[in-house]
Amino acid sequence: MIPKTLHHQSSESCCPARDEQPGIAPAPPSPRSLHDLGFAEIEDELRAASVSAHHAKALWRALHHDGELDLTRRDHFSPPLKRWLHASVGEDKAFFLDAPEVVDESHSSDGLTRKFLLRLRDGQAIETVLMGYDGRHTACVSTQVGCAMGCVFCATGQMGFVRHLRPGEIIAQVLHARRVLQVTHPDRRLRNLVLMGMGEPLHNYDSVMQALDAISSVRGINIGPSRISISTVGIVPGILRLAADARPYRLAVSLHGSTEAERAALMPVSARWDLSALLAACRTYGTITGRRIFIEWTLIAGRNDSPATAKRLADLLHGLDAHINLIPLNPTSGFAGTASTAGHAFQRTLQAAGFPCTFRQRRGIDVAAGCGQLQTARGK
Ligand code: SF4
Repeated sequence: MIPKTLHHQSSESCCPARDEQPGIAPAPPSPRSLHDLGFAEIEDELRAASVSAHHAKALWRALHHDGELDLTRRDHFSPPLKRWLHASVGEDKAFFLDAPEVVDESHSSDGLTRKFLLRLRDGQAIETVLMGYDGRHTACVSTQVGCAMGCVFCATGQMGFVRHLRPGEIIAQVLHARRVLQVTHPDRRLRNLVLMGMGEPLHNYDSVMQALDAISSVRGINIGPSRISISTVGIVPGILRLAADARPYRLAVSLHGSTEAERAALMPVSARWDLSALLAACRTYGTITGRRIFIEWTLIAGRNDSPATAKRLADLLHGLDAHINLIPLNPTSGFAGTASTAGHAFQRTLQAAGFPCTFRQRRGIDVAAGCGQLQTARGK
């Protein structure tokens, strides 16, 4: 059966569950965002305007390292660069800056999680979360508006796919989280990033990787690659491409089911890439990169939390260097499932099989921290 959300795609589907082409980059808008340009592209634009490419360094630093939103304030820019910016950046000019507007914000009662609903230039809204735990601060960003993957327990999946985000729209979320952190905790740095907000990152591969180039650059936002986690629902070609491209980020794979039936009931994407294909891709990834894979498992009462399921999962992962993250279910209005109370027994089975297995902290359930929940609530 074609899942409901996939019905919403056009015949030229952008959904890898139908066409095996992950990473179709969104067309650059006109005018273009300066945040969409890689360093070499900024050099090219300057050269094309007869400005020395040497000035790209200062502009790149202002955009990504400093997160400057008003480039006219940069008094130390060279006169040629100032002239180019004056002629090229602004309303009705060739370039603009990505600076999404905050249209809603909520805080968890413990004050550790802040969630933002951000409006993009075309009026679409996405969610970004800033989480602070144990002295570490982590941004969780979206990679698409909506999502085509249709996981039944997820508010974004229930929304359907709208469009991919551009690199600049992904970068701008991290810059926003960092700006907020600078105000709330001026002594802290934003050190961690997870791509677990709205959307499937490997479905928007090219834009995500371009954004991560700027985010992980020491001359850019400077979040270390090993502190960046890409979370995928299991897009097999994307996982293999990550490995082949030798991308230095952490990979988290959402499994949620230990049999095809168990998984298919929660994740329509399993109809395209079944468990055996997905686990084969994970093994290939591990072999090529030598890196541990993080397995994400949302525990749902009566659906995937039995001792037999835990045992089957341990068997499935046998020989794989994997760390299992158990995630308490965030309730959504579109899914009748409830959070499991059998998590500790589940964890013990996996640990007994030799796997590191931990619970993810519930990060601000009272601010609807599961992706898509703030937008869904606002939409209502
Ligand atoms: S859990 Fe992730 S991949 Fe699944 S529908 Fe939600 S946003 Fe998409």
